[in-house]
Amino acid sequence: MNIVQLKKLSYDEVAKCNRCGFCLPNCPVYKVEKKESASPRGRNAITRAVIEGKLPLSGDTEQSIFSCLGCGACTQVCLSGVVTKDLIFRDRECQVAGDLYPKIADRVAKFLESEHNISDDDNEERGEWQELIKGLPDQAFEKKHADVIFFVGCVASFFPMAQKIPANMARIMQKGGVDFAILGGEEWCCGFPLIGAGMPDKVRSLMDHNLEKIRDVGAKAIVFTCPSCFHTWKNLYQPDVELYHASQMLDRMIKDGRITLKGINATVTYHDPCDLGRNSGVFEEPREVLKAIPGIRLVELANNRQLSVCCGGGGNVEMVNPDLSARVAQMKLDEIAETGADTVVSACQQCLRTVATRARRQKMNLNVKDLTEMVVEAMN
Ligand code: SF4
Ligand code: SF4
Repeated sequence: MNIVQLKKLSYDEVAKCNRCGFCLPNCPVYKVEKKESASPRGRNAITRAVIEGKLPLSGDTEQSIFSCLGCGACTQVCLSGVVTKDLIFRDRECQVAGDLYPKIADRVAKFLESEHNISDDDNEERGEWQELIKGLPDQAFEKKHADVIFFVGCVASFFPMAQKIPANMARIMQKGGVDFAILGGEEWCCGFPLIGAGMPDKVRSLMDHNLEKIRDVGAKAIVFTCPSCFHTWKNLYQPDVELYHASQMLDRMIKDGRITLKGINATVTYHDPCDLGRNSGVFEEPREVLKAIPGIRLVELANNRQLSVCCGGGGNVEMVNPDLSARVAQMKLDEIAETGADTVVSACQQCLRTVATRARRQKMNLNVKDLTEMVVEAMN
């Protein structure tokens, strides 16, 4: 995208920003960086100045534009309704066209082209988490036909800390009698990291492949444990089948009596992942699941639901600026500590990684769990 195209697509939106600054206290990056160029208002001013020819693209604009988490918290409180995150993702396309972007993104783009996953692993190993479920034959869930496809996503497929999430979800669906399949090596990255990197034109081939594989299986629904995959499929792919986040399916299974839950004695707080809550509108189902587990005392974070604070893992910031990501994660941990909960539950593998890693580094006495893990514990 060049500046002329950026102007056409973004000018009316960015011109809505009246510079009131209401969004500043809601932006986690601004809260840790404390500088205008790291705020939604500052980023919008940069977008506008670039469009108006008053500011050239540079290393400085790169730094500001690539430090946004894409969390959407600014829009939630903006009376003018400016969707800053969408403006920033378009700005990133412009930065890429001008060769002013974090070059680490090229590595990920290359991995996605060659191996179709973000970590450059052999894509045939996508289903290796199945080994965590003892007593299963190899590739047990890689069936040719099924009612439901479980789209696992790159992080939960390849990052050891998150592999228990698909293993747990598979266990629950098995127990609840869901006829599901995974695509194994035929599942390719959904393309979400490329959208955040300002390279959305590279998503098409991934999308076409995934859609074709879904058609081959003849599934009527797709379930996701990853909120970002869910969000990408819902907003970009828009297939002709039903889409569920895992929390929605779990809520339904519990209410239909397909799984029964025993008690867990814990004080739990729930962290709304940005792409599940604010960006996809799923707030209540994960809470319903937690409330269905006897013995759990659910305490809310000070900023919850639409006002939830990002864990620091969004918008490719962890890849581009891990220190900034860690400082946002620390802010999240401080908020969690204030609730007095012994356990924080989320419904996203990236939130799990970001919060658990920071809690471990800080030697914090906190259980960090995914919703699926809570359900499996209560099933046992
Ligand atoms: S983005 Fe919205 S809330 Fe923020 S300064 Fe602009 S108008 Fe105000
Ligand atoms: S999307 Fe999130 S990180 Fe980006 S400007 Fe808005 S509040 Fe800040």
